[in-house]
Amino acid sequence: MMENQIDNSKPSALITGASRGIGSSVALRLAREGFHVFINFSSREDLARGVCEGIRSFGGSAELLRFDVSSSEEVDKAFESLKDRRLAVLVNNAGINKDGLLARLKDEDLEHTLDVDLKGAIYCTRAASRLMMRARFGSIIQIGSVIGEMGNAGQSAYAAAKSGLIGFSKSVARELASRNVRVNVVNPGYIKTEMTGALTDDQKEAILRSIPLGFFGEGEDVASLVAFLASPGSRYVTGQVIGINGGMYM
Ligand code: NDP
Repeated sequence: MMENQIDNSKPSALITGASRGIGSSVALRLAREGFHVFINFSSREDLARGVCEGIRSFGGSAELLRFDVSSSEEVDKAFESLKDRRLAVLVNNAGINKDGLLARLKDEDLEHTLDVDLKGAIYCTRAASRLMMRARFGSIIQIGSVIGEMGNAGQSAYAAAKSGLIGFSKSVARELASRNVRVNVVNPGYIKTEMTGALTDDQKEAILRSIPLGFFGEGEDVASLVAFLASPGSRYVTGQVIGINGGMYM
């Protein structure tokens, strides 16, 4: 499909932070499941374009949608442009982590983490809910983290954001249920991406020892669970927090 052509024959799915990592795996999978996919990114247009081309290469349909999830103005404007695009699925995946011990946590790092990981998901959920309530249909999937449930020394701001997503999502799941809009949280453990690639070998070995299944997950593992939550097979699932972590946290 040409970039400026509109494909309204399929329901669409928007994945935030789909230029790489888990988001790109989710985008590819949802396109294979038959969704028209909106690939959101903030800075890596080259990578986002590659994901889009990958989808088109197997006959899927996708387009780029750049916005910064931490700007409510940019989010509202982007979702406004989707009002006639049959938005059925939103995956709030964009995330950052600024690790460090609490005593040395800088205000700007705390704010940036909460702005992207928590407020970003809230802005996108709010904007998507307006469209989905009108359509009386939708599935919103938050990508949280195992850290939001178990905590981790050196990740207090990230944990605050990710556990905030749980209370937020359960509340919104209750608000939107009567309109047939479902909201769930997927909490990955260790998944091989750029985010975890930044860890030292010692840190990786320590994490591996804490995973009963004995291996690290891939973006495709998370994408399988997201595909289920995006499908009619999960029509009776809402307000849930689902771990995907090799047994690291039970
Ligand atoms: P990556 O660092 O590989 O990718 C992050 C993505 O988020 C990129 O596409 C990036 O886009 C996008 N992004 C960052 N800031 C913004 C912003 N302000 N607006 C829009 N997009 C933004 O991360 P992962 O794939 O590892 O992680 C994805 C999600 O999964 C995150 O929420 C993370 O917390 C969570 N997670 C990851 C785990 C792991 O083991 N990897 C474990 C548990 C949870 P761009 O490059 O264009 O800026």
